[in-house]
Amino acid sequence: MEYPVRRSDNTSWQQHIQDRETRAALKSQHPRILWFTGLSGAGKTTIASHVDMLLHVSGKHTFILDGDNLRHGLNQDLGFSVADRVENIRRTAHVAKLMSDAGLIVLVCLISPYRLDRRMARDLMEPGEFIEIFVDTPLDICAKRDPKGLYKKAYAGEISNFTGVGDTYEPPVSPELHLNTVGTTPIDLAEQIVAHLELT
Ligand code: ADP
Repeated sequence: MEYPVRRSDNTSWQQHIQDRETRAALKSQHPRILWFTGLSGAGKTTIASHVDMLLHVSGKHTFILDGDNLRHGLNQDLGFSVADRVENIRRTAHVAKLMSDAGLIVLVCLISPYRLDRRMARDLMEPGEFIEIFVDTPLDICAKRDPKGLYKKAYAGEISNFTGVGDTYEPPVSPELHLNTVGTTPIDLAEQIVAHLELT
């Protein structure tokens, strides 16, 4: 896929002796991206932390890329306009891909509201290596949980473009995993995800 941000023509891809297969083999694991998508407050970070802990305990090498944390560094120049959200996801997806090339299982927690961007991230990976996890929590429940106080601000008109309030969220059509978080616990959902990884 060609991106409008491509600006350098005179570069070529350097092949290195150690590739993702040798690195992954050393870690005895399949590199993958677990892509958590859903509204703010849906439970992406909470569930991913439990998955990370379960995988760590079973000897897997992992890393969490959290959208909020990335906005403190790599993506600190980006806001929440459509163009900036697209760029936020593009950069995060490429970092996740590089980390998977290092043999890691990468957990990405990003609202990632648009289908096209999630498709772009998926297309960076080989079939079976991109696990889209829809953390499906109704808007009213997310707004009630409001772990960061953002819905309160959004409904008060203090934040524009807030997903679910002033901006759209396009739910995944056929995610690998569709989790309903109401009436269950983050640890149960994390165990479901780990079970899925063991089967695939
Ligand atoms: P996100 O990363 O999607 O913005 P967070 O994980 O930061 O969401 O916040 C989700 C909040 O919902 C947390 O306070 C968490 O304790 C709570 N919660 C309640 N039930 C669940 C559940 N089943 N799964 C995930 N989070 C839950």
